Amino acid sequence: MAITVKFFANFRELTGREQERIEGAKNVASLLDELVRRFEERLAEQLYSPGTRKLRGTVNILVNGKPIRLLQELNTPLKDEDVVAIFPPVAGGKLTSDELKRYSRQIIIPGLGKRGQLKLKRAHVFVAGLGGLGSPSSIYLVVAGVGHLTIIDAQQVDLTNLNRQVLHWELDVGRSKAESAVKKLLAINPNVKVDSQLKRITPKNVNKLIKGADVVVDGMDNYPMRYLLNETCVHNHIPFVHGAVEGFVGQMMTILPGEGPCLKCAIPKEPPKKPVFPVLGATPGVIGCLQAMEAIKLITGVGEPLVGRMLIFNGRNMTFNEFRVEQNPNCPVCSK
Ligand SMILES: [Zn+2]
Repeated sequence: MAITVKFFANFRELTGREQERIEGAKNVASLLDELVRRFEERLAEQLYSPGTRKLRGTVNILVNGKPIRLLQELNTPLKDEDVVAIFPPVAGGKLTSDELKRYSRQIIIPGLGKRGQLKLKRAHVFVAGLGGLGSPSSIYLVVAGVGHLTIIDAQQVDLTNLNRQVLHWELDVGRSKAESAVKKLLAINPNVKVDSQLKRITPKNVNKLIKGADVVVDGMDNYPMRYLLNETCVHNHIPFVHGAVEGFVGQMMTILPGEGPCLKCAIPKEPPKKPVFPVLGATPGVIGCLQAMEAIKLITGVGEPLVGRMLIFNGRNMTFNEFRVEQNPNCPVCSK
């Protein structure tokens, strides 16, 4: 039996080829052993943690398009004519020739450049929620080359999600949003690392979850969760890009801890809850894209972030307005 292995990005340079046929590998572990035999230790260094045969957390391996992290790792069995794709770690200090080409149209943006692109490659963004806002924001973060994205959602895809949650398709109904999203995102850009977590964010786990993130993007649909993210980001000094939508109307604001008001300063009390709120898909499409743009600006240092300003988009009369938000000296979250 023969397996086709496809190499991406750095691995192409390391092995000098785009793909390789391997015979006799019964599972992913034995396939990797054979690759290391063929391409020597320089490949082993990229694949495994130093001095071990443990796969690096930054290496992504897909078997027939399915990430093996979802399929129980290295003992994943292989059969004749399977296709295994291997994507390299992204922590590297340089942009590969593939990446320079892929991102060439944004690298030429004044102020962004290769330096900004490298910052994106080294960045870690946490997208909380994979619904109407999290779908477009994670897509635009991934296509821009953010090197490490953590996405989280505890829910399954429902038919009523499909009018706005564009990462999930008809064939995903009933599947977990985390699994549905990671597949699409890695198919869009295999050069980045995407961690997906099938989890609810709680006051107990939130600190650990967002630890190490450079930016947190609000893709939630309720205020208790947004307030929890806001508070945790303020306390951990992590920039937080808030977004919310209803019907044709959306809002967003960037919270830079220590440099401006927080979400609780802007909206001290939770607006009245609705069991089901109306929403047209294009509204979170607009706001989610803008949230991705804010995250990219924060990472690259390009432009001026939406700090101390709440942006209100109204699709009904197609207006963008903003109002100033002052820091509340008695804010329970961000005052000293
Ligand atoms: Zn505040």
